[in-house]
Amino acid sequence: MTAVVDATPTAVPQERRLVTEIPGPRSVALQARKTAAVSAGVGVTPPGYGERAGGGIPVDAAGNPRIGPGSGTAVATVGNANPDVVAAVAEQAAAFTHTCFMVTPYAGYVEVCEALNRLTPGDHEKRSALFNSGAEAVENAVKVARVYTGRSAVVVFEHGYHGRTNLTMALTAKSMPYKHGFGPFAPEVYRVPTSYPYRDRGLKGPEMAQAAITRIEKEIGAQNVAAIIIEPIQGEGGFIVPGDGFLPALVEFAHANGIVFVADEVQSGFCRTGDWFASEYEGIVPDLVTTAKGIADGMPLAAVTGRAEIMDAVHAGGLGGTYGGNPVACAAALAAIGWMEANDANGLARGIEAVMRPRLTSLAERYDVIGDVRGRGAMLAIELVKPGTTDPNPELAGELNRYCHQHGVVTLTTGTHGNVFRFLPPLTIGTALLEDALGVLDQAFEAHAG
Ligand SMILES: *Cc1c(COP(=O)(O)O)cnc(C)c1O
Repeated sequence: MTAVVDATPTAVPQERRLVTEIPGPRSVALQARKTAAVSAGVGVTPPGYGERAGGGIPVDAAGNPRIGPGSGTAVATVGNANPDVVAAVAEQAAAFTHTCFMVTPYAGYVEVCEALNRLTPGDHEKRSALFNSGAEAVENAVKVARVYTGRSAVVVFEHGYHGRTNLTMALTAKSMPYKHGFGPFAPEVYRVPTSYPYRDRGLKGPEMAQAAITRIEKEIGAQNVAAIIIEPIQGEGGFIVPGDGFLPALVEFAHANGIVFVADEVQSGFCRTGDWFASEYEGIVPDLVTTAKGIADGMPLAAVTGRAEIMDAVHAGGLGGTYGGNPVACAAALAAIGWMEANDANGLARGIEAVMRPRLTSLAERYDVIGDVRGRGAMLAIELVKPGTTDPNPELAGELNRYCHQHGVVTLTTGTHGNVFRFLPPLTIGTALLEDALGVLDQAFEAHAG
C-alpha cells in the first residue's frame, strides 16, 4: 500500500473553509449575469464561481476554499494550477502562443507525441496526432480507422460516452442531455451490450463479450466494421468496470476480423486508475488510444495514438486543425507528464484507493441504498439504489450532491440513470483533504439516507 503524499506546494492553503454561505453573494450576482449573457444550453450545476485554485482546492468568488474531489472531471490530475505546469505555460506563452503546427512546426508537439508513443500500452511502433478535445480525438480515431480498413461501421457500447460533436453524439449512449433534440446523427454507428457486473445477473465478462460479438456478427457483419470503440472503464455511463475477460475477448475478436480496436481513455488515462492507462489492468493492447482530460492539467489538448501502420495510412493533410497541439497546451502536457513520472502518480492513485475504498465499503455496509462500490485507483464510485432493490436512485444522488456542495465539497454525479456518485480526486489531494471530504460524505448520508 502506497501512502498518500501531501499535496504539491501551492499558494492556495489546502483546507476547506466556509467563509460565506454557499453560494456567496458574488456567485449569486455572477449567476444572474450568466443567465443574461450565456446560452441556457450551457448548464451550471453548483452555483459557485471559481476565482482561483491550487492542488485540490478550488476557491469560489466569495473566497470559500472548497475541496474539488472531481478535479474538474478528471482533468486536474496533477493538482489544479500545478506549479510545474504554470511555469511551463508561462515560459511557452512568452516564447510564442501559436503558429499552426502544419505551417510552422515546433518541438513541443513532437515531444508530446514521443511521450504518448512511449507511455501508451504496447511496445510496437506508434504514431500520434494532437487535437483540442476528447470528442475531436474520438472523431479522428474513427477517420483513421475508416481510411485504414476501407470499412464504415463503428461499434460502440451501452452506457458509452464519447463526446458532443455530431459523430460523437451518435457514439454516445445517453439521450438527455447529450443528444436530446440534436439529431439526425451520423450513420453507421451500432450499439451493442456492455459488461456491467452489478446488473448482468451473474453473467461473467467473457459471456457478455460473446453477447456483444454475436450482435456484431449477426446484425452488422464483422467484415463491415472499421472500429470497436470502448472506454476501458466507462466514465459518464457510471464508472462501470467491465467483468474480467470482457475487454481481452473483444480485442481478440477485433484482431481476428481486421477491426481497429480503439480504447477511449479520455477519462481513464494518465494515471487516473493506478496505471498510465486503464487498458493495462488486463494487459490489453489497443490499436488506437484516445486521450484528453488528464493530459495537460486543463490546457485544451487531446490525442490519438496508435499503431504506426494504421496512423500512417492517412493521406498527408487528412488530419489536423488550426489549434490542434497548440504550443502552450503541449508545454503544459510535457510538464504534467513529467510531474507524473517524477512523483509516481500511479502509486498516488493506488494510495487514494487504499484510503477511499474501505471508507466507501463501510458506508455500503451501513446504508442499503448503496448497491455497488466500484472503480479503480482514483476513479471510484458508489451506485445508489432504492432501499431493498437494485432500482436506480437518482433523487438520493442529487440530495447527497447538494449536501456536499453546500458544505464545500464539489462532488459529481454520473451514470445513465444519474444515480452514481463519483470521485476523481487530484492525485495531489493528500490524506487530510481526502479524509475531510469523506467526512462530509458520511454526514451527507446521515442527513439524507439515515
Ligand atoms: C469527456 C470524454 C470525452 C469527450 O471529451 P471532451 O474533451 O469533452 O470533448 C470523450 N470520451 C470520454 C471517455 C470522456 O470521458
